[in-house]
Order: sequence, then C-alpha cells, then structure tokens
Amino acid sequence: MTMADDHVDVAVVGAGPAGLSLAHSLQSRGVAVRVVAPESPWHATYGAWRSDVDGCELGAPLDSMLRGAWDTVRVVGHGEHLLRRGYVVFDNERMQRALGAEVEMVRDTALGAEHDIEHTTLRLASGSSLQARLAIDATGSGVLLAHRAVAGIGAENVGGAQTAYGLVVGSSPHVQPEVFTLMDWRHPDAESSNAGVPGSKSGAHATFFYGACFTDGSTLVEETSLYARPPHDIDDLRRRLAARLGSDFTDTARAVERVHIPMGRSLPARTTRVVGFGAAAGYVHPVTGYSVAGSLRAAPRVASAIAAALQCGQRGADLSQSAWQAVWPDSLVRTRAWHEAGLAALVRLPSAMIGDFFDEFFSLPTEMWAGYLRIDTPPEQVRAAMLGLFTRADWSLRLKLASAPGGLLRALAAR
Ligand SMILES: Cc1cc2nc3c(=O)[nH]c(=O)nc-3n(C[C@H](O)[C@H](O)[C@H](O)COP(=O)(O)OP(=O)(O)OC[C@H]3O[C@@H](n4cnc5c(N)ncnc54)[C@H](O)[C@@H]3O)c2cc1C
Repeated sequence: MTMADDHVDVAVVGAGPAGLSLAHSLQSRGVAVRVVAPESPWHATYGAWRSDVDGCELGAPLDSMLRGAWDTVRVVGHGEHLLRRGYVVFDNERMQRALGAEVEMVRDTALGAEHDIEHTTLRLASGSSLQARLAIDATGSGVLLAHRAVAGIGAENVGGAQTAYGLVVGSSPHVQPEVFTLMDWRHPDAESSNAGVPGSKSGAHATFFYGACFTDGSTLVEETSLYARPPHDIDDLRRRLAARLGSDFTDTARAVERVHIPMGRSLPARTTRVVGFGAAAGYVHPVTGYSVAGSLRAAPRVASAIAAALQCGQRGADLSQSAWQAVWPDSLVRTRAWHEAGLAALVRLPSAMIGDFFDEFFSLPTEMWAGYLRIDTPPEQVRAAMLGLFTRADWSLRLKLASAPGGLLRALAAR
C-alpha cells in the first residue's frame, strides 16, 4: 500500500442526504470526518412525514429548509382519505447547506478502497488518496461495498425499480394547494379505480398520481409506479400523466422529474470493511422507495456508535463491525424481512385490488400505518400493522394476500 496524502477518523464517500447527514452527526460528536464527493446539487423532490424528521439532527430548524409543508395528506384508493398527519418537502439547497455547513469536503470521486489492519485508503480520481480509520459508502449505489447478496424476496427481484414521470408546472386543477396528494389510484376515465389505466389496456399495471403545490407557486404533477420488475417504462408513465391531465405539458413545463429508484436488492453483506449508509446500505423502504427520512433518523444512532467505538480504541474490522451493527441492528433486519414480505404480497395483487389495499392500509390507526412506513419501526409493530390490515380486509383481498409466496399468512399468525 502506498502512503496516503491525508488521513481522518472517518471518510464518508457521497454527499447525498445520507452522506451529509451522517457526516454532520459525526462532526457534532467531535469525530474528524471528511466527505468525498463531486460537486452535485440534489435534483430530486424529497418528501417525508413531518413527525418522522422533526427531531432529526438537521443543522438548522426543519421549517427553515422546506419547499412546502402540509397538515393534510390525501390518499385515494377507491375512496378518499384525508390524513391529518403533517408532510414536508425539503428545499434541497437549504438542506444541503445546513447539513454540510461544518463538514470538510473533498471534491473528488472515490475509485476504490484498500485496507490494512488499522486503516482504509481511498483512491481518488484526482490521483490523490485519503486514509481513514473507517470508510463509509454513502454513494447511493454502494459501489465500494464488496458484495450485494441475492434479493431478499427472491432473486427475480434483482433489477426492479420504482419509476415516475413528473412535471413542474405553474398550477394544475388536479392539485389542491392545501393538501399533499401522496397517491391517487383512480383515473378519471375509468369506471372504477385501476379498472382501466390511461395509455394501456384495461387491468394493466396500475400507477398512481402524486401532486403538490409548493410555496414558490410551482406545482409538481407526477405519475408513479410502485416497485416493478422490470421497472415500469417511463415513457408509458409520461403518456399516462398526459392522459390524466388532458394534455402532455412536457414542452411548457418548468422542469421534468424522471424518477428511477433501484429497489428489490437484499441488504449488503454486513461484514465488509467499508460500511454502507443510506441507499447504499439498503435504506430504501421496500414498498415506498423512500429513504431520506430513514437516513436522517439513523444518522445520530450510527454516529454515536462510531464515536463510542473510536473512543474505546476499536480499529479495523472491529470498528467496521460496530458501525454495521448500528447501521443494521438485528431487530431492524427483522423489520426489513416483514417489509419485504409485505411487498411480495402487494406486487402480486391484481391491479384492480391495489386501491382496496391502500383503502384498508390508510384506514388502520395512524400509528400502525405510520410505523409500517418507517424502516426503523420494531419488527413486532410492523407485523401488527400487517396483521391489522389482513384482519380488516374483505375475503377476496385476504385470499389474494394469503396466497403470496413465502407463507405470509403462516408467518403473520405465528407468535
Ligand atoms: C427523483 C427522485 C425522487 C425521490 N423522492 C424521494 C422522496 O420524496 N422521499 C424519499 O425519502 N426518497 C425519495 N427518493 C429516493 C431516495 O431517497 C433517493 O434516492 C436519495 O437520493 C438517496 O440518498 P443517498 O444519500 O443514500 O444517495 P444519493 O442521493 O444517490 O447520493 C449519493 C452521493 O454519492 C456521490 N457519489 C456516487 N459515487 C461516488 C464515488 N465513487 N465517489 C464519490 N462520490 C460518489 C454522488 O455524487 C452523490 O453525492 C427519490 C429518488 C429519486 C431519484
């Protein structure tokens, strides 16, 4: 191994929401941290439930970094649900600035990592290198992690993704400014929700509408597919959105948002010297594709574990193991298994039943559905939410859910 140009306690590779939030939390615990990432603004529209991110270490008050905030969220399966639970969309520039304010950045790309007993040395595209006691992969894709095992809900899920096609427009009659439309599974032309979807033959893979009006007066209208393998074609989503809106506004839109969130991969092998965080570590909710709140919520836990391990002199593989244990505690690995079982059942539902599913899901007590939507909810609470939905469902939905592979019903019934 060659001599590194520089060294720190922790090198975080990647400056997305995950990398910056972890670096911010490490920094505030007195850990010498440096973030390696090329200059790159965040383009995606990042939303989260307010109470999930309210208490997070954000570097500034939550309300100072929002592009929009709503007290009511609208979900439409067959019926309309007005959920009295706050939702926020981040102002990316302000959030990036707040999280990164105190953090030292290296504007570079990591090409690889080499390890000795005590250190990891990152090779950088500029030709220089950075040595750290611990390297974190927060690259989104996990390029520095040695190995991603076969998908948890079956190898057939490798290559799946959630996709969406969105337009930022001035205003839209499809969006009510005072509510955040999280999902609307109906289509105006269809007699019943999901019975027919725009641009496709009746009963084809269902997609939903997502829309919000922001404080700057702009409006996002988006057609979204849940996880699918192969991913739902973005051009088809564009056609469906145009059919829903009555016209394709792409040419006059202020911006176009093309969403592709790779999903369906199993958790990384949690034994590697480089430790994953954020989407790179599988912090993508298997059903919703969300990961920002998951990363923000985990950052203090993981930073505290790393700071404590460094303080008590842990080095090399032991330090990495302590960090992995905080990234994915055993109980949250079990939580993940329940989420994957839920997804396996959901993706096999006929399109016409997706609306029923979400009607029942959002009719559960708030703490139940809200818990299911977090990646760090204790496994027994996620199981209770799934059992609650199963109990509420009518017989036809129950039968479909029960026939999902992997013995969902048996697992739910087991103590
Ligand atoms: C359009 C869109 C909308 C989304 N909306 C939401 C939402 O509303 N809510 C939600 O929770 N989630 C949402 N997601 C999903 C998810 O939260 C995002 O994918 C999120 O960006 C993941 O954060 P991350 O920090 O883990 O990875 P990323 O945001 O992918 O950040 C990775 C960082 O690593 C850097 N990098 C990559 N390789 C290297 C390398 N070799 N060396 C150095 N740096 C490197 C990149 O430049 C980048 O800075 C959305 C995703 C998309 C694409």
